[in-house]
Amino acid sequence: MNLKKSKNIYDEAIKYIPGGVNSPVRAFKSVGADPAFIKSGHGNKIEDEDGNTYIDYICSWGPLILGHSDERLIEGIEDILRNGISFGLPTKIEVDMAKHIVESYNGVEMVRMVNSGTEATMSAIRVARGYTGRDKIIKFEGCYHGHNDCLLVKSGSGAITYGVPTSSGVPADIVKNTIVCRYNNLEDVKKTFEDFGEDIAAIILEPVAGNMGVVPAKREFLEGLRKITKENGSVLIFDEVITGFRISYGGASEVYGIEPDMACFGKIIGGGFPVGAYGGKKEIMEMVSPTGPVYQAGTLSGNPLAMHVGYRNLKILKENKNIYKELEEKAIMIEEGIRKNIEELNINAKIVRFKSMLTLFFGKGPFENFDDVQSCDTEMYAKYFNEMLNRGIMLPPAQFEGMFLSIAHTKEDIEYTIKANYEALKAIK
Ligand code: PMP
Repeated sequence: MNLKKSKNIYDEAIKYIPGGVNSPVRAFKSVGADPAFIKSGHGNKIEDEDGNTYIDYICSWGPLILGHSDERLIEGIEDILRNGISFGLPTKIEVDMAKHIVESYNGVEMVRMVNSGTEATMSAIRVARGYTGRDKIIKFEGCYHGHNDCLLVKSGSGAITYGVPTSSGVPADIVKNTIVCRYNNLEDVKKTFEDFGEDIAAIILEPVAGNMGVVPAKREFLEGLRKITKENGSVLIFDEVITGFRISYGGASEVYGIEPDMACFGKIIGGGFPVGAYGGKKEIMEMVSPTGPVYQAGTLSGNPLAMHVGYRNLKILKENKNIYKELEEKAIMIEEGIRKNIEELNINAKIVRFKSMLTLFFGKGPFENFDDVQSCDTEMYAKYFNEMLNRGIMLPPAQFEGMFLSIAHTKEDIEYTIKANYEALKAIK
């Protein structure tokens, strides 16, 4: 594959941007490759600067449920821009968006828009602390909630991949109130509550982890968390930055039938624009300034363009709920095809799927927590990634991430992907 132009841009990029990228995973480091610089995306495909095209299974890390540049989202964008790009004053579309989220998600009665998932989780934690008057929080090993100091503790995503579970630059004093438990392990949580029950403001988790590869929570685990937080007056926060409006319209809360006290949203609700949001029970959200004493603000929060596109995206998803069925059917086709290939070639790998999110783990499994996924052969994944890239398929450039489907992926794409998977697995065996 010719990546000459990408390489030239990358050489230039590393002079001006740390690692040449604005988010670590994009550097392709953990798959031992140089990044492809992307020029355009249409429907199911992206094209790099050298003109190579790829079937895209990153989908901007989840948001592009409709695929790239869906006409329904583009329509009217120019009008919005011509009528003012940003005001820093309230606009009606923010109210429409808030109402839409509140009506769609069990557990959210009020919501505040922010600009990223990181901001959403950071703010939710602050509100939970303000509401309970407590400092300690529980997070789970392998869950990633953005790069807030207090949550960057044994976190997933790039941190696992680069083998640096805790970022430098985070003062020990800040993380001393963050307790890390094992995912899907209720005993850890019970023990923590026995020791610190009265001090625990919140539990935050990805109800379906996507940042250590796809690792769904067990139902009993989520039920246990719901029960223990209720009994102890702590706030249960679902980080639905990946799952909200992606695994189903009402997110994991709807899929599991478990209502958190607060929820965080991100990229998905922006349809590709920089958006985040956090919300929860009215009583909790009224703690936020100017109603209450917890300060949180944002000059560009609720930006008109992001709101219009995000709102339109959510409306399309709401009015066409069969989209979720279609996404899952496509994901099942991939899952079954890859599983068959693995069996036929006798590869030490396992494909895990939850709704339209998938990870091919190079290990036996089961994969229920961070320790489990750590046993994977990341070198095999790197080889696999590159074999697939050479066959025109863009997978997440790291083992501990999820693949995402969009409705723009065709049956032919999927058949081709399964065929490429067979050849790639055979080549790296
Ligand atoms: N929470 C989860 C579950 C995420 O996956 C991410 C990002 N991948 C974040 C929070 C942070 O979001 P952002 O990158 O928009 O800050």
